[in-house]
Amino acid sequence: MKNYKIAVIKGDGIGPEIVDQALKVLDKAGEKFGFTCQYQYTQMGGCAIDETGQPLPPGTVNVCKEADCVLLGAVGGEKWDTLPGHLRPEAGLLGMRSALGLFANLRPAQIFEALKDASPIKAEVIGDSLDIMVVRELTGGIYFGERGRCEKDGHPAAFDTEMYTVPEIERIARVGFEMARKRDKKLCSVDKANVLESSRLWRETVIELSKDYPDVELTHMYVDNCAMQLIRHPSQFDVIVTSNIFGDILSDEASMLSGSIGMLASASLAEGTFGLYEPIHGSAPDIAGQDLANPLATILSIAMMLRYSFEQEEAAIAIERAVNEAMKTARTPDIYEEGFKKIGTNEMGDLVVSLL
Ligand code: NAD
Repeated sequence: MKNYKIAVIKGDGIGPEIVDQALKVLDKAGEKFGFTCQYQYTQMGGCAIDETGQPLPPGTVNVCKEADCVLLGAVGGEKWDTLPGHLRPEAGLLGMRSALGLFANLRPAQIFEALKDASPIKAEVIGDSLDIMVVRELTGGIYFGERGRCEKDGHPAAFDTEMYTVPEIERIARVGFEMARKRDKKLCSVDKANVLESSRLWRETVIELSKDYPDVELTHMYVDNCAMQLIRHPSQFDVIVTSNIFGDILSDEASMLSGSIGMLASASLAEGTFGLYEPIHGSAPDIAGQDLANPLATILSIAMMLRYSFEQEEAAIAIERAVNEAMKTARTPDIYEEGFKKIGTNEMGDLVVSLL
């Protein structure tokens, strides 16, 4: 029987409550589909700062490196907001991405059948279904480029630099092509090639790589147009691949199409099968410890883990189905509507387990 080693970082705020539900679901999936999981608990973010003075203690990185993948709840909270930038909980996240080489961020934006009415976009614009995967480059580009303060024309000035190498572009574009190949075989590469030299290299490189993927239909779109098209006609997209900064903005925009922050999962992948899986939302300190948090985004992150790190597609589909079924009868307060049973975090975890 396969045994997976998973580093678990519950984090701050609602992190511990939602991660507990996700682990219940993972254990049940293991029983049903014939695998076991071994959890190695470690710390990052606010609670790590309280214990060690650092948001990402070296021991945490080691535990993660020894594991097959990482499950993260969320980090951050008001208590640590006044610390200098490099000591804040979010610095742990950035440190983790580079320490583990997590270069590809996958953010699905889906509308669940049972939650169609939650989208801020009109039903006729959404159409029959919406299932977009945004593939964002995560360890290069302007967020990691040369930066500084200087003086220009006698005034204080500042600069940040966008730079990509061909191997960096190829590596992320390949993730996009492979993803499209497993889905509807449509890849839209987003850039600003009408203005930026780095985008022109991006486009040339993606076109060159497309020769390896004749079965995938490749299109290109300028980022400003893409921002508009996501609202105007979102169902035209299958997989979007883009740079760090464009992906940061577009994946947040795409996630809002679904209308519920408590429902969206994400994966950050390294070379090979290693990945870090987490919900897209934060630590929601306003509802922490009250059994009010929606655990479904974290449970859906487990489905992504099974699909992308462990090739357990059947188990991943079963979890996604169970989540959809659960929403047909019961809801946590954030997605509650009249006619459904209102339940808490823990009960939602149990319901998904019972439907698996
Ligand atoms: P947030 O996502 O934590 O919360 C925004 C709103 O959504 C809140 O009203 C919250 O109650 C609600 N919400 C979020 N997740 C929910 C869930 N699962 N169920 C029900 N409601 C949910 O964003 P924020 O308030 O801007 O940030 C709070 C803290 O989280 C900050 O310290 C921020 O830096 C941190 N943060 C961490 C991550 C991460 O760990 N990856 C991501 C974003 C924000």
